[in-house]
Amino acid sequence: MRVSRLMLVTLRDDPAEAEIPSHKLLLRAGYIRRVASGIYAYLPLLFRVLQKISAIVREELNATGALETLLPQLQPAELWERSGRWSGYTAGEGIMFHLSDRQGRELGLGPTHEEVITALAADLLRSYRQLPVNLYQIQTKFRDEIRPRFGLMRGREFIMKDGYSFHADEASLRECYGEMDRAYRRIFSRCGLKTVAVEADSGAIGGSASQEFMVTAEAGEDLILSSGDGSYAANQERAVSLAPGAVPLAAQPCTELETPGQSSIEALAAAHGFDPSQIVKVLLLLARCADGSLQPVLVSVRGDQRLNDVKLANAVSARLAPAQGALLSIEPLTPELIRTERLLLDLAAIPFGYLGPDLSDATLAATTGPAAGLGTKPQGRLLPKLLRLTDPTAAELDSFVCGGNSPDLHRVGASWAGLGLKPEAVDLRAAQPGDRCLHDSKQTLVASRGIEVGHIFQLGRKYSEALGARFTNESGTEEALWMGCYGIGVSRLAQAAVEQNHDSNGICWPVAIAPFEVIVVIANLQEPSQRQLGEELYANLLAAGLDALLDDRDERAGVKFKDADLLGIPWRVVVGRGAKDGQVELVQRQGSLKRELAAGDLLAELPGLIAAERSGLLA
Ligand code: ATP
Ligand code: MG
Repeated sequence: MRVSRLMLVTLRDDPAEAEIPSHKLLLRAGYIRRVASGIYAYLPLLFRVLQKISAIVREELNATGALETLLPQLQPAELWERSGRWSGYTAGEGIMFHLSDRQGRELGLGPTHEEVITALAADLLRSYRQLPVNLYQIQTKFRDEIRPRFGLMRGREFIMKDGYSFHADEASLRECYGEMDRAYRRIFSRCGLKTVAVEADSGAIGGSASQEFMVTAEAGEDLILSSGDGSYAANQERAVSLAPGAVPLAAQPCTELETPGQSSIEALAAAHGFDPSQIVKVLLLLARCADGSLQPVLVSVRGDQRLNDVKLANAVSARLAPAQGALLSIEPLTPELIRTERLLLDLAAIPFGYLGPDLSDATLAATTGPAAGLGTKPQGRLLPKLLRLTDPTAAELDSFVCGGNSPDLHRVGASWAGLGLKPEAVDLRAAQPGDRCLHDSKQTLVASRGIEVGHIFQLGRKYSEALGARFTNESGTEEALWMGCYGIGVSRLAQAAVEQNHDSNGICWPVAIAPFEVIVVIANLQEPSQRQLGEELYANLLAAGLDALLDDRDERAGVKFKDADLLGIPWRVVVGRGAKDGQVELVQRQGSLKRELAAGDLLAELPGLIAAERSGLLA
């Protein structure tokens, strides 16, 4: 490939649209162009990177016996209705682009493919003799992300490798999951990436065990909490830890305390000398469900602890009635929400800032009446019974301070029995850096940031049961298939590699995924000896099997060197003044190697050097 034919437009300045180094560099070096929010053109340079990543992915997955396939991106709503995910993915904060065809049938653009593949499995897999099966594809995915950003990191259209496996039993699923774990480690290592595997939340996909692979980087959107001894690492969405001990509040008869204006934990603690860990914080929230029902939720957590939104959403989801469908969103039930949504609730009856865990259902129900629900938005139906969730940090307190369910009033010396409650403890608190670890209380959690490039799940039988994917087992009875699913963000990975490998002059691609392995720069195109040697070398490097790029532009040498650095090609061969004596200069992009040598020696040495780097796993 010749730079003169590459449509290469490099930018000297950082584009205003980009915030993080990798996004800036991919734009500046002419790898990508933004077409619309979260939608990018992958220019020929980036396409080569994507092809190289895909080739590594294919090699490693094929080696495990997985089979490549290609599934439709247009998916019928009916399949998603059967799995129960249509409304969750299309209504509220749902991320599926969807449309109706000319016959009025609804379709979605695939954000993921569990439904399609499970329907195929239902059709094709009949007997244990066909199992296990592991299929994957590399394809564009569509997600109407709430906040597309950072270029390819969070696009609305992006390339994913997604794989799905089917098994006769859980042991076989576990074995495959382990094999995918090892294959993923090899893939990322061969791509030249430093990754860490962390325990992950299974999210809307569902299922039990799941693990994410994170590229460690400052700009990562995910917070990782790990123990110093390296034996525990989890996404904060999922992380668990030992809560710091509470400062005990002496057992005492429960008394009322006038607390005007002290509606926050801080104000209450400051005014009366309580420790926040002696207070039970009570939060009123509203969960919207797919069937239009609005479920009020009352959460109790110790005053010094923070709520983890992901754990909360999982806990609420698990407690919805099947008829309520998917959980669409949860938000604080505030006076503003009641006003803006015109909820038919009597604002004055709800003691905001002074809620106790024993707030009665009647507080909401009494004010709703027969016309309960959303005033002008008839789709909402406010349910009369509070869903009560209590974090263990609160449930374990013997004597505590809490709201008095009446304005300007708290209670001191309250107890669960005294309030007439038997709270079921559900882990809802956000683990924090500095917390002691569960596996070893001498270890503490340390925070770091990561970019999620891969995610593997043991799905279990959720989808196979919903979509009727059954097989006949060895003893002749029918049962649902066991499933796993495995994703890699191919386009995100390309950018994550830049985030991890760059310097002030530009990108420093790992050889294995660089668009080109070597760039031959003809310093002065007007000089026949330089031009001739450059062309000759370029042809010979190609013939030796290297991915070579020739900078044949009639530009100043300095401009070409700058561009070569910006592009990040791992090796540069400069054909300059020494050309008439057959001498060239070899420069390594990352590192200090810079050497004059004869063109013949270069041809003898470079292919070997590059071949070693290309195939080498990271140390
Ligand atoms: P995230 O938590 O970052 O939104 P996810 O957990 O929803 O991602 P998965 O459903 O696990 O993503 O998808 C598999 C992989 O696809 C992810 O590990 C990630 O690398 C990639 N990916 C997901 N969403 C995007 C996106 N909007 N843009 C680019 N890559 C993405
Ligand atoms: Mg994920």
